[in-house]
Amino acid sequence: MIIVLDVEQAEVDLHAGALRCPHCSAVLRPWSSASARQIRQLDGSHRLVRPRRARCSGCRATQVLMPAWCLPRRADAAEVIGAALVAKARGQGYRSIARELGRPVSTVRHWLRGVRGDQVEWLRRQGVQRTFELDQDLLVDLTVQATALGDALCALAAAVLAWRRRFARPVQAWTLIGVFTAGRLLSPP
Ligand SMILES: [Zn+2]
Repeated sequence: MIIVLDVEQAEVDLHAGALRCPHCSAVLRPWSSASARQIRQLDGSHRLVRPRRARCSGCRATQVLMPAWCLPRRADAAEVIGAALVAKARGQGYRSIARELGRPVSTVRHWLRGVRGDQVEWLRRQGVQRTFELDQDLLVDLTVQATALGDALCALAAAVLAWRRRFARPVQAWTLIGVFTAGRLLSPP
């Protein structure tokens, strides 16, 4: 799977032979599409996604080009799951987060269980690394938060700020974080 920031651009790149296989670096070719799914957004509406598939001209493996605003195998957009993580970092429990987001308690608990320990530290490192690459001055402004998850979200927010300053494009924060974390907000690499 490849996480793409700009779906239209990825389609152009794919047809131009500019996308490479993550396994063997050979050129990816357009293949079929993955099945369509409805993804729930933060405002409660649904957005249809039908990710493009590509096939490697070398190793023949297929790749799904997943838009960065989605998370693989999740029915909720990254902005929904991100909002749950922010609430957890502020000390809110999963029941009240589920109520606020209008999602089943079991779903929210499952998300939150996925982000602790090594996963949280991995998220923090992705944020710090991206910030360092884009605008290392912003690292100085990172203040220590009350929880490890708070530190991780702070580092990712700094990376979002650094990216927007560099590229001056209005891309939604959780979409960028989807790119920075390669779609692995909840699942360890
Ligand atoms: Zn390949």
